[in-house]
Amino acid sequence: KEEVGNHLPDNVKKYLAKNNIKLYIINATNIADEIGLGNRTNTILQSAFFKISNVIPYELAVEQMKKFIVKSYGRKGEEIIKMNYAAVDRGGEVEEVEVLREWADLNVDTVQKDDAPEFIQKVVRPVNAQRGYDLPVSVFVGREDGTWEHGTATYEKRGVAASVPVWNPDNCIQCNQCAYVCPHATIRPFVLDEKEQKGLGEEVALLKTQGKQFEGTAFRIQVDVLDCLGCGNCVDVCPGKKGQSALEMVPITTQYDNQKNWDYMVQHVSSKAHLVDTKLNVKNSQFAKPLFEFSGACSGCGETPYIKLITQLYGDRMMIANATGCSSIYGASAPSTPYTKNEEGKGPSWANSLFEDNAEFGFGFVIAQASMRNRVGDLMQKASKSADFSDSQKELFVQWIENKDNGEAVKEISAQIVAVLTGMENEIAKEILSLEKYLTKKSIWVFGGDGWAYD
Ligand code: SF4
Ligand code: SF4
Repeated sequence: KEEVGNHLPDNVKKYLAKNNIKLYIINATNIADEIGLGNRTNTILQSAFFKISNVIPYELAVEQMKKFIVKSYGRKGEEIIKMNYAAVDRGGEVEEVEVLREWADLNVDTVQKDDAPEFIQKVVRPVNAQRGYDLPVSVFVGREDGTWEHGTATYEKRGVAASVPVWNPDNCIQCNQCAYVCPHATIRPFVLDEKEQKGLGEEVALLKTQGKQFEGTAFRIQVDVLDCLGCGNCVDVCPGKKGQSALEMVPITTQYDNQKNWDYMVQHVSSKAHLVDTKLNVKNSQFAKPLFEFSGACSGCGETPYIKLITQLYGDRMMIANATGCSSIYGASAPSTPYTKNEEGKGPSWANSLFEDNAEFGFGFVIAQASMRNRVGDLMQKASKSADFSDSQKELFVQWIENKDNGEAVKEISAQIVAVLTGMENEIAKEILSLEKYLTKKSIWVFGGDGWAYD
């Protein structure tokens, strides 16, 4: 209670003092753990709310909460009822923290250095700070159609988990299952070449990467401490060695130092996914960068690992039609966008329909793509018969026509076509280039929500 002031930002302290706000704390995380509720703190906090708000007499609130516990969990046995009763009783342990009068005079005008892109500084940060209403229209110039930047979620770094996993390489079999089940893409295998290994501190543990194709590289399971939501799914799934898990949940306060290793991995370690067939098995799929990361889905969400996996397999050419529901809320809660892009700047495009029309919405994507790509096909036909193009160029046009609907093959051919047509003074070439984004075959997905096909 005495330490709270040391952990609050000055602007928060100032606001509390200037507005005569009362401040209360309760260590609900510890209480839930002690009474056997794991990380479920909601009943404790509900009880604490009634204790401090006095919206109804606290005794009456306790009586009613206990009555509903019997109604909701009666069939689950006495043990569950007892735990929830304890949660209600201990919610009353809430304590008031003194808001010091001198906090009102704190100087909070210092500007912190921020290396984030302009869009993050000018739009995302103010909106996250609930100052979006004050933004001038001019910051949205160029976004009149409502498009938003990819991957803004990566700049939030909320650090909200009470405990996070720590990796013990001695027990790791490099199966990548931890990364596969993580709902938030906050634990990942990284493969480092010799140069990349040198940038890490000596104390940072590495393993020799398993597999011939990875010869000369090192392997590390890295946790993103500040984006992890502490669900423990990775720990639960980890097979470890001889029954000894390679992951263990520990208090986040012991792991802040590990964040710099995550930052190093994402900034300086290149993807080695091209060394394996990422579509062959679960292990390989996790070497691909997730193009859906740090969503605001609930801790331990069961849907997001599937979405994340799909983006690892098809994300660089993916279009998503999303119905409204959980999947649209964690998919794009402005200003936070978890859909992101790869090293080539390619990632899923995403748009939200309202409720029950999502099938038609997604079908519209399919029809639009087919129509535009038919136009490209006509141009390729024309070009393949024109004397203005060389034999090797014509060969590429024919290959494109033959592989038009083969997602992976046409990606390669399209890149070659763009390279050979760039700079050509020819009307057909120019028109093909103007339709460049339709050259690759899109992987179109229709995601459900509460209002359509369920999540
Ligand atoms: S605890 Fe949950 S959110 Fe954190 S790394 Fe493990 S699976 Fe991901
Ligand atoms: S699940 Fe466990 S054993 Fe498998 S890669 Fe992750 S830490 Fe290693």
